[in-house]
Amino acid sequence: MELLEQRILEEGHALPGNVLKVDSFLNQQIAPDLSLKMGEDFAAHFAESHIDRVLTIEASGIAIGLTTALKLGVPLVFARKKKSILMTEEIFSTEIYSYTKKEKNMVLVPKKFLPANENVLIIDDFLANGDSALGLARLVKEAGATVAGIGIVIEKSFQQGYQKVLDAGYPLYSLARIKSLDNCKIEFMD
Ligand code: 5GP
Repeated sequence: MELLEQRILEEGHALPGNVLKVDSFLNQQIAPDLSLKMGEDFAAHFAESHIDRVLTIEASGIAIGLTTALKLGVPLVFARKKKSILMTEEIFSTEIYSYTKKEKNMVLVPKKFLPANENVLIIDDFLANGDSALGLARLVKEAGATVAGIGIVIEKSFQQGYQKVLDAGYPLYSLARIKSLDNCKIEFMD
């Protein structure tokens, strides 16, 4: 998505350790217009996949998950990283290692918001080693639902997640694909 690539080049900062900082439009401050366009792009790509529900993880997945769900006309549900006292019903849970926080979190979704036999579209902001996307996929499988696709805003194609998701057989669609962040320089795939 050209608009997104432009924005990444203009406002993104490649930090040491293969991390891209895009807090001005995705991870802290959120650009509503761009989020809407990204949601439209995901929805158009997965238009024929009979999506029943969008699943993401708090916090950065929520805005983009919302615009995607809006355009698909389906509900959005997000996994929490901490149990709330309001989560009184039965839950699905799995452990996910956080790439940026360098810690494991138990992530949780109430069972009533992940019914069996649905087609679920997983949306996330970044794909690095694949822990987050594959963890969400585990929740979908545990629910007896199907992972109809995985939509990623920024895929770091040089890390392991890309191959792991493909090996698992999930349809993957990424709006921007980064070839390298070497020497803190952002390079996209051709
Ligand atoms: P993975 O689970 O695929 O290793 O990493 C994906 C998750 O880690 C995303 O949900 C995102 O929050 C975070 N993440 C991974 N790489 C980056 C990055 O380069 N920049 C930012 N801002 N977040 C990242």
